[in-house]
Order: sequence, then C-alpha cells, then structure tokens
Amino acid sequence: MKKPGKDRRLRRRFIAVFLAAVMLPSLIMAYLGLRYIKQEEQWQEQLVVSNLKVTLSNAVHKIEEDVHQAVLQVFDSLTYETSLPTSIVPQQLHKFLTEHTFFKELFVMDNKGRLLFPRSFRLQKASGQIVMSSTLNKQRLIRGEESEARGKYNDAIDEYQTGLGDCTYTQEKLAFRIRIARCRYKTGDLAGAQHNYQLVLDEDANQFLGEELPYQFIASFQLAQIFDQLGQHSKAFHIIAQLYSNMLAEFQRFEQKQFNYYLSKIRNELQKHLQYAGTVAPALLDSLIQVEEVFLQEPKHYSFLQVSVIPSIETALRAKLGHNSVRYILIEHSDNLIQVAFREFGNTIQGIRTIGIILKRSYLSDLVIKLLHRIDVGENLRIILLDDEKTIMKPGETKIIPIVEEPLHLLEGTMDGYRLALMGTRETSIEEFTSRAVIPYYALILVITVVIALGVIFIFHDISREQELARMKSDFISNVTHEIKTPITTIRSLAENVKEGWVTSIDKQQDYFRLIARESERLGHLVENTLDFSRIESGSKRYRMEDSSTQEVIEKTVDRFRNLTEGQQVEISCNISKNLAPIRMDVEALGQALLNLFDNAVKYSKERKIIMLIAEVEGDHLKIAVSDQGIGIDRKDIPRIFEKFYRSESNTKKNITGSGIGLTIVKEIVEAHNGRIEVVSERNKGSTFTIYIPIKREEAHV
Ligand code: ADP
Repeated sequence: MKKPGKDRRLRRRFIAVFLAAVMLPSLIMAYLGLRYIKQEEQWQEQLVVSNLKVTLSNAVHKIEEDVHQAVLQVFDSLTYETSLPTSIVPQQLHKFLTEHTFFKELFVMDNKGRLLFPRSFRLQKASGQIVMSSTLNKQRLIRGEESEARGKYNDAIDEYQTGLGDCTYTQEKLAFRIRIARCRYKTGDLAGAQHNYQLVLDEDANQFLGEELPYQFIASFQLAQIFDQLGQHSKAFHIIAQLYSNMLAEFQRFEQKQFNYYLSKIRNELQKHLQYAGTVAPALLDSLIQVEEVFLQEPKHYSFLQVSVIPSIETALRAKLGHNSVRYILIEHSDNLIQVAFREFGNTIQGIRTIGIILKRSYLSDLVIKLLHRIDVGENLRIILLDDEKTIMKPGETKIIPIVEEPLHLLEGTMDGYRLALMGTRETSIEEFTSRAVIPYYALILVITVVIALGVIFIFHDISREQELARMKSDFISNVTHEIKTPITTIRSLAENVKEGWVTSIDKQQDYFRLIARESERLGHLVENTLDFSRIESGSKRYRMEDSSTQEVIEKTVDRFRNLTEGQQVEISCNISKNLAPIRMDVEALGQALLNLFDNAVKYSKERKIIMLIAEVEGDHLKIAVSDQGIGIDRKDIPRIFEKFYRSESNTKKNITGSGIGLTIVKEIVEAHNGRIEVVSERNKGSTFTIYIPIKREEAHV
C-alpha cells in the first residue's frame, strides 16, 4: 500500500538535511570563491601591469641600444669614406647619404675648423689688397709698374726682382713674381715668362691668392697662351684643365658669383683648345664636368653649420679630446634645438678631421618605428611610439588607449618627450587582459556548480528510487501474505468441515480432499516462487542443466496448470511443433517460468480465459510464446514489468492480487538459459510473452 504522508515527510526531511548539509556550505563556498576570484583579478591586474612594464622597459632598452648602434655604425662606415683625400670625399659622401635614411645631413671638418663637406663658398669676395712686408717693397712695386707703363720692361724687372728678394709674405712674393713673368713675356722672353708663371703656380700652392684676379688664374691662362705660341696645344689644354680641377677642389676660397664667372671662362678656354689638345682631352673634360655636377648638388650655403655648429664643436673638442668616441651636443639655432652627433678621427696623411651628423627628431622617429617592427612583445600586444604631445605615431590609430608607457631616452636627449607604449592589438583594456587570466577560476566554479547540481539530481533520483523500492517491498510483503492467506483459509475451512463430520458422503469427501490438494498445490507454487525470488536476490539460485525434451516440460506444466485451475473456465490450446529436439535446460526452472506466464495470462484475462501456447524452432532458438486475450499492458508499464516488485497501477483499481515478482523470476530463469524474453501487448486485446532459448549447446549459468 502507498503511504503518501510518510513519503512527504521523508522528502521534507531530506530537503532540510540537504539544505543544511549541502546547499548552505556550497553557497558559502561559492561566495568565498567569487570573492577570491575578484581579489585574484586585482592581483592579476597588478601582475599583468608589472609584467607589461618589464616587457616595455626591455623594449625601451633594446630600442635605445639599437639606435645607438645604428649611429655608431654610421660613424664606423663614415670613417673610411672621410679619410679619403679631400677631392674624393664629397662624391663618396653623396652616395653615403642616399643609402642612409635616418639622417639626411652630415658634415666633415678638418682640424682647422674648415668644412670639407658640405663645401661652401666664401661669403665675401677677397679684398685683393696686397700685404707688403715694408714700405720700401711697396715703393719698388709702384716704381716697377711705372717703368712697365713707360715700356721700360728691364727696369721694371730689376725693381720687381729686388722687391722679390726682400719678401716675407707669399702674396707679396707672388705679386712681384707675376709681374716679372708679365715683363719677360712682353720682352719676348717666353722661356723666362714660362719659368716665372710656373713658379707662381707652385708658390701659390692652391691658395688662390691674388689681387683683382687670382694669380693662379692669370698664370695658367698666360702659360696656356705661351704653350699655344710654342705649338704645344695639349700642354695648353692640360694647364687650364689643372686650373679647373684646382678650382673645383678649392671652391671654398671663392665667392659664388666670382667662382661661376671664372669657371665659365675656363670651360670656354678648354672648349677652344679641345680639337688641338689630343685624344685624352675630351675624356678629361667630361670627368671634370661630372665632378662639377656632383659638386653643384651640395648644399652650398650651409651658413648654420658655419655660424652655429662648427664653433660649438670646436669648443666641445677643446674641452675634451677623444678620438673614436661619439659625442652629442645640443645647439640652438633659430629657436630650434639641433642635436649633433660627432666623432673625431685622424690619420697621418689627412690629419685630424671631425665628422658629424645632424640628428632630427623626425628622422629618428622613423628609425625607431622601423626598429619597433622587429620587437616581439607577445600575442595580442603591440608596441608603439608616442610623441611629446601623446599622439600616436601611426595614423588612424588614435582611439586605442595604451596600457603602459615609458619615456625613451635616446642619444643624450635627442628624443626627450617621446615614449614607447604597449597596447592591445584591438581595443583591449587592461581588464580584458586580466579577465583572461581568471577565466580558469570561473570555469572551476562553474564545474563545481555543475557537479553539485548533478549530485543533487542524482541523490534526489536515488532517494526517489529507494523510496519507491521500499514502498514496493512493503506492498510485496502484504501482497504475499494476502496471497498465501487465501489458500490456507480455504484448506483450513475444508479440513474442519471434514473433521467435524459435516461431510458424510464419500464422494463429497473426495471432492473436499481434491480441493485441499489443489489449494496446497497453489500454496506450494506461491511459496516456491517466493523462495526462488529470495534465492535470486541473494545470488544463491542454482540450476540443474540437462538435455531434456521441451515437449515433455510443456506438457507437464500444462497438466500442472490444469490442476491448479480446475474448476475455473480456462481454455488452453497448445501448438507444439513435432521436430523439437531435446535441449539443455533446468526442467523445473523452465516449468516454473511457464507456469508463471500461464498464471499471469489467467490472472489478467477478462471473463473468458483463453490461453494459447506455441512452441517451435525459430532459427537457432527454441521459441515458446504464451498469449492471452486479457486486459493487456499499458505502454508505459512495458519497460518496467520485469523489475522486481513492479506492478501496474491499474491492478489495484481492478483488485487483481499479485506480488510483482513473477516476471522477474521468468526473466532470470530465461537469462540463465542464455535466452531472452519479449512482450507484445495491446490494451484490452491481450498480451504475448515470448521466450527464446538458444538450441546450440552453450555454457549456461550453473
Ligand atoms: P504480478 O504478481 O503482479 O502478476 P508479475 O511480475 O507476474 O507480478 O507481473 C508484473 C506486472 O505485469 C503485473 O502486475 C501486470 O500489471 C503485468 N502483467 C504480467 N502479465 C500480464 C498479462 N498477461 N496481461 C496483462 N498484464 C500482465
């Protein structure tokens, strides 16, 4: 019998225990867990920030080092270029500048503070004043010129010659020398003139000294004229070509207009001589013109180098002399600060030179951005350069907020104000980074919650099952008792009737004894079933397998069943195939299983109790089907009817007694024979239980 009140009480108690023992601690645990995760999130945030700071600071060091190395490299390669002879330096440096992109301006100065590169013109025209060592010499020059004007060339030569003997300064000497040469020429002494003009060239030593015109210029043109007169055109060409080359090399000594004027005169002269000057002349002229073209590309008026840079570097050099180390100075120039990196180097032939590069922030930032590409800061992160106004140095990315940043100290302050920053590749905030780190904790909480939930469901399910089983067990006991009681009561009353002598006729007594025997048989069957079940439950049921005739078992069982149902309206029809071979079985067990099926067929039949048995071979199996035309089984009950104690609810309504172990025993016996049982049933039409037992000899459970 069901006891819903007790069930409910049990359930309530269980819920109370469950809440107190499981839910409350779980909730407390979850709360503590979440608090811990929040705290962990904060720690993670600090950890992430400090890790990022370390990454960034490494990157900053690397960039600083790389930029420094890039500058050093420039100086190392420049040292070679600039140690070349002065005339080659410009060409090499032009090439060098096009190959390097992070700076665009460089200069080389010699130890006298003169710029070798870029070359620049003298800002003012030379005065043309001859500095004389004595007034006497001055007078000699004037007197010589007066004699020359009057056509007295030899007198003039004498005056000049005496003056020459008293000379101190080169320019003074050259002034007398060139006048002597001129007079010699005028007297027709070509050899003397040639000799003196040559001496002028030698003594001038490319200083381009002079009065109205440089002496070298006059001497070269005069010499060319003499060579022409002597028919030595090639010599004439070469002397002018030499002048051209010297002027290109020493252009700083000229004022630009003056220089251009001289150069055009020289080129005209060379063109005039070209056809008489021999085969090498055109090539020589071409190469000189090329040099001139390169030279014209140079920034010519580098006044800020002359005015600001060179003097500052000279001061710095005086303060500390050191070859081979790169130094930096900041120079103020028209409200701008210019950072200059320079290094002194020297060799025995060219003397000490200083070479410098102008570092501009924009060039350097380009270099830094290029170097940043090589730095790996990890997945989802990017490193960027911020300028002093905090704008990002790459267009189109202004929205992204840097996570950490650090100032960049480059080349002694050149990039002050610039900083490197780390940020996410997308619009990632620091929270996103840290939340990623605590995901495993959340996952753990989730897993724990799911496990607890599953556990609760499982326990509920289990408890419900246990409760149902307990209920079914108690129903079973009362049902069995009830079932046993019925035949006992019948036997007792029949026996008493005979004992009291109320049944006198022999026939009647025989009837009574038969009834007693039938009820005893039924009682026996009930007890057998119950004992069998108990053996099955305890695992102690044994089978005695032997080769037996199926037909015999069926017929014996049908006979026994007929006995049991004597007096009831039961129709049994058997259709047993003739060719059933003996199979290995426990005769008693199988008989009992069949009896249980017959029993149910009668019990669950309506008024007419018609049972049909078919036994035949189907494939490898012996098939025994027991059908009735009874009430059938609810579809929902079918999966459960073989469970122990299970009885369909409709039985109670219809007052059909039973203990719920009959089919459990049948199934167990069939399975002990390696067989299976199937059921097909339709409500109100009847049911068919079919047993399949393998015919082949197989090991059965013993
Ligand atoms: P019971 O003692 O209740 O008959 P069983 O284990 O023999 O126990 O059967 C389990 C349940 O299966 C029965 O309560 C009944 O609902 C159903 N059942 C068994 N055999 C039949 C049948 N032939 N027709 C209808 N219902 C049946």
